[in-house]
Amino acid sequence: MNKEIISSFQKMIDVNTPIIYINDYDFVRVDELIKQVIGKQKVEEWNPATGITDFNNKTTKGNQPLADFLVSKYSIEPIAKLPNSFVVLKEPQDFIDDPTVKTLLALMSQRKLYDPMYECTVIIVSSVLKVPVEIEKYVSFLEINLPDDTEIKRLMDEHIEVNDYDKNKFTDNDREKLMPSLKGMTAFEIDRMLDMAMSSNGSLSADDKEMILRQKKLMVKKSGVLELIDVKERIEDIGGVDILKKYLKRKSAIYAQLHEATKFGVSTPKGVFLVGMPGCGKSLCAKATAAQFGAPLLKMDMGSMMGKYVGESEANLRKALRIAEAAAPCILWVDEIEKAFSGVGGNNDIMTRMFGYFLSWMQEKSSAVYVFATANNADKLPPELKRKGRFDEIFCVNLPNDKERKAIFEVHLRKKNRDTNLVKPDLINATKGFNGADIESVVNEAIEQCFVDNKQDLTTEKLRDVARTTKSISKSCRKQIEDMEKIFKENDFTNASEESKPSQSRY
Ligand code: ATP
Repeated sequence: MNKEIISSFQKMIDVNTPIIYINDYDFVRVDELIKQVIGKQKVEEWNPATGITDFNNKTTKGNQPLADFLVSKYSIEPIAKLPNSFVVLKEPQDFIDDPTVKTLLALMSQRKLYDPMYECTVIIVSSVLKVPVEIEKYVSFLEINLPDDTEIKRLMDEHIEVNDYDKNKFTDNDREKLMPSLKGMTAFEIDRMLDMAMSSNGSLSADDKEMILRQKKLMVKKSGVLELIDVKERIEDIGGVDILKKYLKRKSAIYAQLHEATKFGVSTPKGVFLVGMPGCGKSLCAKATAAQFGAPLLKMDMGSMMGKYVGESEANLRKALRIAEAAAPCILWVDEIEKAFSGVGGNNDIMTRMFGYFLSWMQEKSSAVYVFATANNADKLPPELKRKGRFDEIFCVNLPNDKERKAIFEVHLRKKNRDTNLVKPDLINATKGFNGADIESVVNEAIEQCFVDNKQDLTTEKLRDVARTTKSISKSCRKQIEDMEKIFKENDFTNASEESKPSQSRY
């Protein structure tokens, strides 16, 4: 177990923390940690399935409802100063809302804080995070970091040993190739993956990487905090934004050989931030990036993470980021990030804490999770998000210029198997102020009209006529667009398009 975790745990005990909460389902590893820190001291475990046991020798001591068990711990008479005693509550989440249980935990905590003769520390070990508000102030959370390279290597070697596999057949090359696919998982999950790999072909080798990555995708699907997005779009399906496309192609080349690149001294790309007008292709770019990187696209929806228990929202965010790390290499798409963190800095403590956690994760992350954040509104962005060290680059996407509108028309005509030569200068002029979504709708509408009018051939005139009757974004939201262009300039965001002057009239 990592030394840092052991020392944080020890510190929590030293400073007299009444309740230590370990939100983890890898009970074997957590038990090892508890044993390592508390050693041979008196520890009793309560578990809804197995009852009360002596934690150290696992002998059973009967069965009691949680409230009765806690009563017996609360009412210990302080005849003399007792040695430290610990109570481990495993999976108590279904019982913790009981008013007697909540009250007893609060009373035990107060006694621990104010009665020098009372030394009972409660350690809650639970696969879900559920802390009633009544006891929140007595709780410290202990986070168990995921295994690092050394531990993953140890787990792999242990598997080879335990399964009597010829050590010489599992080379350093196999170890090095498997390592990235096993990152981001708990020791329990790694063990399961290695078991599966060994049972499928009786051995362990670099070839098992594909199977492990497939399993990781299933983990994402089951997680409930991230959505696995199906991607059909390619980078060639994006019209315009040539600077951004070139940039993404370069980053994808680094990801394709991340190991060599980092050995060479290249920093692992952290991610990109795209701010832009609605309907200008931000989502399209996120999807095409995943295709370009050849990596799964995971969408993080902040709204669905907000929980009703203390710490639940933060735990969901931690879980989402951990799962993204487990699925690495992957693209983590944080859509409308400005909405997710709009309450930051104000009265919304939960949002502020989540934002802080997200930022430090971005800052410290070394895993192959490429963050693709998108925002419609650059005005409401907390300034910390824009600071260097978080995202590698912030791009702004303006309304498409003449050349880009031509390219977008061509993309959508090609998709509908129509001649791209239909895009003539007068059509480009008629669509000034249109975004990508407007152009796509012109193509769709024109084709639909042609079909209804006796399946006529699509013509430039038809496209132009439809464009003239289309209410483009710049007609409906002119003021917002002008404001946004101003903000782009003030912030000095990198223009995603090749045109050097973002303010050049596009409408
Ligand atoms: P919002 O902020 O409203 O979510 P967005 O910027 O994410 O919008 P998308 O959803 O990516 O925009 O685009 C909307 C539609 O417009 C998509 O169906 C996409 O095909 C089309 N589109 C937008 N921009 C482009 C582009 N540059 N090239 C080709 N198609 C585009």
